[in-house]
Amino acid sequence: MTRTRFAPSPTGPLHLGHAWAAMVADDTGDMLLRIEDIDRQRSRPEWEAAIYDDLRWLGLDWPEPVMRQSDRMAAYGAALDVLWSRGLLYPCTCNRRDIQAAASAPQEGAPLTGPDGIVYPGTCRGASRTGPRPQGVALRLDAAVVGDLCWTERGALRTVEADAFRTGIGDVVLARRDFGTSYHLAVVVDDAAQGIDLVTRGADLEEATPIHVALQGLLGLPTPAYLHHDLVRDAEGRRLAKRDDARALASYRAAGWSADRLKARLRESRIAPD
Ligand code: GLU
Ligand code: ZN
Repeated sequence: MTRTRFAPSPTGPLHLGHAWAAMVADDTGDMLLRIEDIDRQRSRPEWEAAIYDDLRWLGLDWPEPVMRQSDRMAAYGAALDVLWSRGLLYPCTCNRRDIQAAASAPQEGAPLTGPDGIVYPGTCRGASRTGPRPQGVALRLDAAVVGDLCWTERGALRTVEADAFRTGIGDVVLARRDFGTSYHLAVVVDDAAQGIDLVTRGADLEEATPIHVALQGLLGLPTPAYLHHDLVRDAEGRRLAKRDDARALASYRAAGWSADRLKARLRESRIAPD
């Protein structure tokens, strides 16, 4: 059986977009649950409890124990050590303003943006890559070491050439100064550790997939298949904001919606009922 996962962050209530993501994961495979709580500032135990409660209300279940990213810092550190010892990472001390300024220097034209915002202009690329892995500083992947990439999206082949990765995505941060890891590194290490065959998630994360496929290659991990599903929108076609509490599952529950009716609505159309 295909193994899929639903990977919410416990930083607020689950809304209809999360419900749809969990339904897609459950429909297409055996769904594992992963709590993505590397952001210790914004993650709260009460939101984690609410996730379990909302998912059970939807009629979903999952194997225990649930993987929690805050328990996995050693695994992320080990992956960073592998990359660092091969000279593929470098420390970066730039702040947002430095990057903005360097990327918009007159000779550079309009700054290019990739999945993480402005493509990093490479200011710190010459920093030392020897000695023990630096802590308390951001570490970037040197995109020059990424080769041609391929994976499948809904069964169809996707490719990104090395050159396109270097110019359109660039040297992404794999260890944030504040978290000691990053979303990209954690998701790749954990999808492999959980044996995920099919990554299902919202279309908003599709542009990050080349980063994940590149990391799988560099870390010797298998590349799963991908399925990016459409996003739930409001009647005006706007994506649901993470903070739109009116679209929280809890609000529909409180308004008397049954799980079956809400799920039927989502299957019919990805337009959030008022
Ligand atoms: N934690 C991410 C979110 O809540 C999902 C990550 C993923 O599915 O790769 O948006
Ligand atoms: Zn820098």
